[in-house]
Amino acid sequence: MQLGIKRQRAAAGGQSRASESFLRQQRFVNDVSHELRTPLTIIRGYVDILERYGAQDPELFQEAVTAIKNSAQNMQSLVESLLFLARADQGRQPLTPVPVDLDDMLITFVKDYNSPRVNITKLEPCKIMADAEFLKKMFAAFLDNALRYSPPDTSVEVELTATDSTATLKFIDRGIGIAKDEREKIFERFYRSDKSRTKLDSGENSVGLGLSVAKWIADRHNITIDVQSKPGAGSTFALTIPTI
Ligand code: ADP
Repeated sequence: MQLGIKRQRAAAGGQSRASESFLRQQRFVNDVSHELRTPLTIIRGYVDILERYGAQDPELFQEAVTAIKNSAQNMQSLVESLLFLARADQGRQPLTPVPVDLDDMLITFVKDYNSPRVNITKLEPCKIMADAEFLKKMFAAFLDNALRYSPPDTSVEVELTATDSTATLKFIDRGIGIAKDEREKIFERFYRSDKSRTKLDSGENSVGLGLSVAKWIADRHNITIDVQSKPGAGSTFALTIPTI
């Protein structure tokens, strides 16, 4: 009798897990289709226009080429993030951690990132164990957002401080900020706040996966991420990184 109940419960648990995973899969397909629809609609629309009038009107031609290029870039970055997360989910994303001088790496990274709006305002020496390529991908996700969600005349500060056991790396912007109830959700796949959706124009490259990728990389390095933000005033993403 006992066993019967246990089996029933186990079967019910299995069923609810199966339907949960089905729902997750459904939502995922829905999200991906939705994200692909906008750039595809833009591309089709401009191709139709080009076919009809394009070659005669140089201004229209340029507008179409720019829109098609941006849309293709959006789709490419969506597919790259999806492939990254698929490999991560399947355990096929191997990391090779080596000792890294984080201060030196940060200087090179910011130089290569090449934005006049990004400044390193504090820099203390520290060494960590990390896969530098993954780390750069994560830093880029925070910087892309900090720049994207703040006015073009503001700058983004990068601060690195260190104690004996941890380094703290902050990305500080003076942008639109993130409401309190959204701070947990921003790391979910495909999540974008309504505010950020309306702020972006169709040319901007946002699919709602950057922070999911960043979080996966942070977790693999035992890095914790703390988000402080004040809507309308700006956000700070603070990473706590174990040092060696
Ligand atoms: P996206 O490609 O939309 O930027 P992310 O996963 O990188 O996707 O970020 C998810 C959402 O988190 C963004 O759409 C935005 O709403 C919010 N967000 C992330 N970083 C910031 C920031 N620095 N300032 C304001 N909002 C942010």
